[in-house]
Amino acid sequence: MNLQDVELDITLNNASRIDQVDFDNLVFGKHYTDHMLICDYVDGQWQTPKITPYGPMQMQPSSKVFHYGQAVFEGMKAFKDDQDKVWLFRPEDNFKRINISSKRMAIPEFPKEYFFSGLKKLLELDHKWVQKGQGNSLYIRPFAMAIENGVSAAPSNAYRFMIICCPAKAYYSEAIKVLIAQEYSRSADGGVGFAKAAGNYGAQFYPTNLAREKGYQQIIWTDAKTHEYLEEAGTMNIFFRIGDKLITAPTSDRILDGITRKSLIDLARHKGVEVEVRRIKVSEIVEAHQNGLLKEIFGTGTAATIAKISGFEYDNKLYDLPEVENPYSVRFKKALQDIQYNRSEDPFNWRFSFED
Ligand SMILES: *Cc1c(COP(=O)(O)O)cnc(C)c1O
Repeated sequence: MNLQDVELDITLNNASRIDQVDFDNLVFGKHYTDHMLICDYVDGQWQTPKITPYGPMQMQPSSKVFHYGQAVFEGMKAFKDDQDKVWLFRPEDNFKRINISSKRMAIPEFPKEYFFSGLKKLLELDHKWVQKGQGNSLYIRPFAMAIENGVSAAPSNAYRFMIICCPAKAYYSEAIKVLIAQEYSRSADGGVGFAKAAGNYGAQFYPTNLAREKGYQQIIWTDAKTHEYLEEAGTMNIFFRIGDKLITAPTSDRILDGITRKSLIDLARHKGVEVEVRRIKVSEIVEAHQNGLLKEIFGTGTAATIAKISGFEYDNKLYDLPEVENPYSVRFKKALQDIQYNRSEDPFNWRFSFED
């Protein structure tokens, strides 16, 4: 990446909290690193980005984000290899995507040099928080929101862009059971489903709670119009393996363009597996299940990389998936992680380090 460093206004944290963290028993999202990035947009421009100690901030109760949900976010990870070098995975894609999300939510685009200069400094200052070892990573959360005071329902003229980071641990991820949506929807044509808009998540919590009460961890979202087509798995993209072929829905204004999704498509094809990117009906997977051809279903996203799905409910019927030998979900998860942790070749040029 060809980038110019921009000047940052840095206030160091002289009281690191890293010694208080039990890295062996991490609770995801509980501990944040010593520093954060904060940059305000006022008078029509982004001001000098600041790096400050992580901590609470004061906001007016009338800040627009609290009333109208004008906010977007990203999720990305940093990994440490055996030589203590820190790597990011396709970070330019996250940067581009937050600006795509911002545009849809009428938030001004954030400059690339600010984003990467800030991130570079954060990773430099807080590099100890990136732990070595399979499954360990630093979860990076960039986000932007409307901070103008006043409850008038018009786009804000002041915004805040931030990056906070928290250590994440390899958690043993059990296969999940899912419910195929027949009533609620996550997104609709012309809506904000393609954006990482904060409200997309808020709106999922209630139907997901209902699904949990029935014993399902996630909802498979279908198209809002007919509920016949399979679109996403909770907050992940979704793949179906029928026979030896993988099928995933094309991205659209209802489906988020996941970086793990597109990486998996390229990786699977690279390894000689056929991948079809096309709309897929619930009836097709039910039929494939009956014919014994439905081998695997899994979700993809930065948090879990690949999350195996062991069964689904549709029309009050439960469909269990068989255990298969050498599943794609395990094989490709390992292949992706080998690239992320710098344990294998990276023929796609996905790894990125500021230390190069
Ligand atoms: C973030 C997200 C994903 C996964 O995207 P990645 O870039 O792979 O992390 C998938 N679906 C939705 C709705 C998301 O918000």
